[in-house]
Amino acid sequence: MSNLLNKNLNTTNMPDKEGYFGEYGGSFVPKALQRVMDEVAAAYEEISKDPGFIEELRMLNETYTGRPSPVYHAKRLTEAVGGAEIYLKREDLNHTGAHKINHALGEVLLAKRMGKKKVIAETGAGQHGVALATAAALLGLDCDIYMGEVDVKKEAPNVSRMKILGAKVISVTTGTRTLKDAVDEAFKAYLKDPVNQIYCIGSVVGPHPFPEMVRDFQSVIGIEAREQMLRQTGSLPDAIVACVGGGSNAMGLFSAFLDDKSVEIYGVEPAGKGLDTDMNAATMHRGKKGILHGFKCYFIQDENGEALPVYSIASGLDYPGVGPQHCYLHDINRVTYESATDREAVEAFYALSRMEGIIPALESSHAVAYAVKLAKKMGKGKRILVNLSGRGDKDIDFVMENYPLTEYEPEEVMKDGYDEFLSHIQSKTN
Ligand SMILES: *Cc1c(COP(=O)(O)O)cnc(C)c1O
Repeated sequence: MSNLLNKNLNTTNMPDKEGYFGEYGGSFVPKALQRVMDEVAAAYEEISKDPGFIEELRMLNETYTGRPSPVYHAKRLTEAVGGAEIYLKREDLNHTGAHKINHALGEVLLAKRMGKKKVIAETGAGQHGVALATAAALLGLDCDIYMGEVDVKKEAPNVSRMKILGAKVISVTTGTRTLKDAVDEAFKAYLKDPVNQIYCIGSVVGPHPFPEMVRDFQSVIGIEAREQMLRQTGSLPDAIVACVGGGSNAMGLFSAFLDDKSVEIYGVEPAGKGLDTDMNAATMHRGKKGILHGFKCYFIQDENGEALPVYSIASGLDYPGVGPQHCYLHDINRVTYESATDREAVEAFYALSRMEGIIPALESSHAVAYAVKLAKKMGKGKRILVNLSGRGDKDIDFVMENYPLTEYEPEEVMKDGYDEFLSHIQSKTN
């Protein structure tokens, strides 16, 4: 697996030395922080070619996370939809329940190699915080997680997880007391001691080298899935689909297929309560170009270029910007960016649970919802691979409170097909 970090796949000659994917990416940070970012970039450049580092990460992926995660043929869902065959890349089966552990392990290993004592990060819903706290516990580093006071109250189970894992959770009480303020506080703390600490970003966003580094750590998803599809079906999928928040699980899958001209690629953004409302986080649909959190991308902004509040039922998707490589792939038309609403995500959440015995994360449910539409459009004989980025355990209380579907459903409802199943659950959960 010398290509674990995806360095020899030719489309990933991106970014350039300054961290640009076309006009996107780069690094727009204060001078003091730029020095630190240059150090991280240089360390990563060296380490990503070091066979010892690559082997250490490969071993952890295999023996700790449980990789490779399987590719699973969702036959009952396929049958109910009545179109293209649907396959799932099971990132939900990873230790800690999502793809985020893939880059958390890479980042904390890098931190350790750089001689850092502590990793710090912000977290919204707590998913990135838990993944990082896990990797820090495993590798014996201190971990400080900054979290808005509002989120600390809302996401109690993840706060407990982080504390049990030995991380310090710092409740941020400035501003709106949510993610944005947590980012500011974490960066402030970082600048106070950039020698002993390192900031670990949770997606393919932020200043160079993070979009490149996080993509490389996530590229194991696509490398595995491409081989698994070839082995199981004898050919590449006709289309691949992933949900897009910052875009890390999507880039992880997409990167291995970018050169495969026959493979259509779809990113699915959260349409929230509708694309025609402001209650969504559909960045490619509503965003304009600008600088956000130290890098150039499309982001949802007001007339003054300030990021606007965004919304999704899936807290992992409600980010106003999107990774720079996605912006580039959008502009050159290599990836098509579609969306799914809250409602469609909840329907897909129930469909996958009832038809396959898999409770998906609400984030991943967006990808499933769009894949179902695409399967109908592409028709029989085609194959679609969906990245199931995480499991839904974290979402069950929310779904049962807001969209309860507790009644027994006769098996017939499922046999009648996907649309009948949908109208059935719509009538029950309205
Ligand atoms: C955080 C998260 C996402 C969104 O992040 P990306 O960087 O866009 O992948 C998607 N799915 C799950 C399960 C997550 O936890």
